[in-house]
Amino acid sequence: MTDQKPMVVIGAGHNGLVAAAYLARAGRKVVVLESRADVGGAASTHEFFPEFRVSSVAHLTSLLDPFLYKDLRLARHGLVFSKTHLKTVALDTRREALVFDQAHIVAGELSEGDRLAFAPFMLRMQRFAQLLGRQHGRVPPRLHWDQWRDAWPAARFGFDVRRLGRDDMREFLRVVTMAIQDVLDEEFSSDQLKGALALDALLGTKLGSRSGNTVFSYLHRCSGQSRLGTALPQGGVGAITQALASAALEAGAEIRLNTTVSGLQVTAGAVTAVMLGSGEQIAVSAVLSSLDPKTTLLRLLGARHLDTELAQRVQHFRSVGTTAKLHIALSGLPQFTGVQFAHVGERLVICPSSLYADEAFNPAKYQRYSEQPMMELSLPTVYDSTLAPSGRHVLSAIVQYAPYDVVGGWTAARAPFEAVIMQVLERYAPGIGSLVLGTELLTPVDLEERFGMTGGHWHHGELSMDQALMMRPVHGIAQYQMPVKGLLLCGAGAHPGGGVMGTAGRNAARVALKGLL
Ligand SMILES: Cc1cc2nc3c(=O)[nH]c(=O)nc-3n(C[C@H](O)[C@H](O)[C@H](O)COP(=O)(O)OP(=O)(O)OC[C@H]3O[C@@H](n4cnc5c(N)ncnc54)[C@H](O)[C@@H]3O)c2cc1C
Repeated sequence: MTDQKPMVVIGAGHNGLVAAAYLARAGRKVVVLESRADVGGAASTHEFFPEFRVSSVAHLTSLLDPFLYKDLRLARHGLVFSKTHLKTVALDTRREALVFDQAHIVAGELSEGDRLAFAPFMLRMQRFAQLLGRQHGRVPPRLHWDQWRDAWPAARFGFDVRRLGRDDMREFLRVVTMAIQDVLDEEFSSDQLKGALALDALLGTKLGSRSGNTVFSYLHRCSGQSRLGTALPQGGVGAITQALASAALEAGAEIRLNTTVSGLQVTAGAVTAVMLGSGEQIAVSAVLSSLDPKTTLLRLLGARHLDTELAQRVQHFRSVGTTAKLHIALSGLPQFTGVQFAHVGERLVICPSSLYADEAFNPAKYQRYSEQPMMELSLPTVYDSTLAPSGRHVLSAIVQYAPYDVVGGWTAARAPFEAVIMQVLERYAPGIGSLVLGTELLTPVDLEERFGMTGGHWHHGELSMDQALMMRPVHGIAQYQMPVKGLLLCGAGAHPGGGVMGTAGRNAARVALKGLL
């Protein structure tokens, strides 16, 4: 075992750690190489203002793969949730907030027609989302197959669609590529409800509510198999990766921090070593990269190891991030218009109509930030006293749209964009400005610099139908194995995409262990 060349996992984000834990549990010698000083990547917690900590990027979980709890015993490794089954609170400046969960309207004004339509719509969307969720744990089918048994994964997907039953199958096939706005307009009249549902389809994408494919992104967001619903890990999302790191270490993996991988060595068509920024080389039996596809294939491997067409496909993989994060240290709890005290710690959303969502998107098409951004807000300190001093609070805001390639650059755009966000917050929570002790804005450029994610993209690359399933990251390399023997992709850029799931890491480890290299 000690002479065995290690399997190297690049990146200790949650997917890299999941892959490492599964490989180590299977008895492989595993070394994880992470450029930062701590594990977690985009699923970390950090101090952003003295004595105030926040989930660095991802701030809520709804997609975490339930297999991880069982297989890696995350609860035993310290993972606890301060709140599960968070409700959505759709804020409005003029009326009571609309509060709902997966199937019930809890509070707010809604017409009789919308109330009656709500549960059937949500349940149907959940059935469709579960259909996608069932594909998450499977290696995507190939578009070409030489043997009939290779056709099985594609056939199984077809059977799953058929098993929806005639009505649901027809409806699924009709809506899956549609724009979320069109589907919501068919069902509901309430702007407040349509805005909140549209936001779920759009967070993390470079799409507006009138863009095709946004029903698909909505379904992806609802496709979690976790029984916890939308949840807040105690200690922030970094608590998940701390538990994963503990599970990987216990299984025997080694984690080397402050270690940047600068390249891969290929000999006779197989990856044989990783090169570190320090000049050191590590001989490997295989490499699982949780870095995004462009970084992995174009920067670390090098386009010369890809055929020209594949290199072009990877080059064209769309990965322009549009999502920013604002962290605010508050001296007290802000009051949001129309929100009952009992709901202030739930998931608050600012997107008063699906039209608002589309208008928020328009400037991003032309590389400008939104003057009326939509937001998902979390005040984790309502349930978690470990993140701020007593009586103080943290507000974590995911802000859409803030294009990576903003005209004039983010150095100039940073202050005015933060002022725009604060103006919007002030409209929904009058007086919030007077509670602010300190802020931290992370633009997509900051996310790229801090975490090495190309474009600062939520999913390491747009997750839409043309970059999903057997076309993720691009067709020809969608089964985790990359075109060079012994190199696999195990991060959000692989199937089933981003969000704190861990499924890409688990699937890639299974492929590596089957020896399909
Ligand atoms: C603004 C924003 C908000 C989000 N909010 C949510 C949310 O609320 N809920 C949710 O589920 N998802 C959310 N996401 C998505 C989620 O955070 C990511 O999809 C997910 O964390 C990606 O995990 P990963 O392990 O695949 O990759 P990463 O987390 O990107 O991990 C890659 C790791 O590799 C390391 N690395 C990079 N380059 C090198 C190198 N050369 N050598 C060694 N190491 C290297 C990085 O430091 C990092 O640790 C959000 C994303 C964004 C951008």
